[in-house]
Amino acid sequence: METVLSISNISKRYGKIQAVSNLSLDVKNGQVFGILGPNGSGKTTTLSIILDLIKANSGTYMWFGKAPSTASRKRIGSVIESPNFFPYLSPVVNLKIVADIKGIGYDDIDRVLQLTGLYERRNSRFKTFSYGMKQRLAVASALLGNPDILILDEPTNGLDPQGIAHIRELILHIANQGTTIIIASHLLDEVQKICSHVAVLSKGRKLFDGKVSEVLAISDSMELSARDTEALTLAVKAYPSYHSMTREGDKILACFSDAVNPEILNQYFFGKGIILTHLSERKRTLEQHFLELLRDNA
Ligand code: ATP
Repeated sequence: METVLSISNISKRYGKIQAVSNLSLDVKNGQVFGILGPNGSGKTTTLSIILDLIKANSGTYMWFGKAPSTASRKRIGSVIESPNFFPYLSPVVNLKIVADIKGIGYDDIDRVLQLTGLYERRNSRFKTFSYGMKQRLAVASALLGNPDILILDEPTNGLDPQGIAHIRELILHIANQGTTIIIASHLLDEVQKICSHVAVLSKGRKLFDGKVSEVLAISDSMELSARDTEALTLAVKAYPSYHSMTREGDKILACFSDAVNPEILNQYFFGKGIILTHLSERKRTLEQHFLELLRDNA
């Protein structure tokens, strides 16, 4: 799969604050790539660097395998700040102004208004829009000219549940049309729902990156108990894909590096003369995994 963005060892410092530290990551064509981290972890700084809004102190990045250029920037649409349009003008007129700035024609305006569900309101004044509609207009504006990449910084911040659902559906719809999407978010749930890949940032450093589904797979764990807890503990540790365990009262919470089948696990213990008195799956959420990563790297 083609690498559309390659970041190598980028660092950015604001005075004493190291906002981004030696960050490297690759985004491939068609991915919905989440940059996940708490407030102040360097997400906006990273996006601002790859959009050439600010300069890194060191490191490089490439778009489509080449140094960034005017041509590569034309292939990228972004929403970095809260939506800002002329309040007394309609979406159509506002988008005409954006099209003029981008140096493209007006023939894409109806498409992006339809895509973002704003076509019916195309002639209302911007100031009459809900915050959710304003945010969708910002996405529409970023999509003018049909970019290959869409970059969104905290796209659902400040929206009500319905507005959040609208934006998430819209992002998935745009991704299904083949656009590569990069999203900064502090919401695990959001990344879990819409991203295919994730990089976790803490204090400007990357702690982890990979497929969201793989993060979930390593997160499978089993609650187990047996009369002889010591024998059970030894048998769990000897299991081929054993990763780690914790004791919770008379139960053991065992984590495995691959998804485990309860039936096979049960058979395994039985084969070792251990009869389980309890066996249940516990899916750790990305949130628990994320919090563990942050705790381990505090
Ligand atoms: P948030 O979700 O709160 O925006 P973030 O993950 O996007 O967080 P950044 O905005 O990139 O994080 O900020 C990273 C660090 O750099 C923070 O400590 C922030 O205070 C600091 N920072 C960001 N911009 C500036 C600036 N212009 N001047 C000084 N410090 C800054």
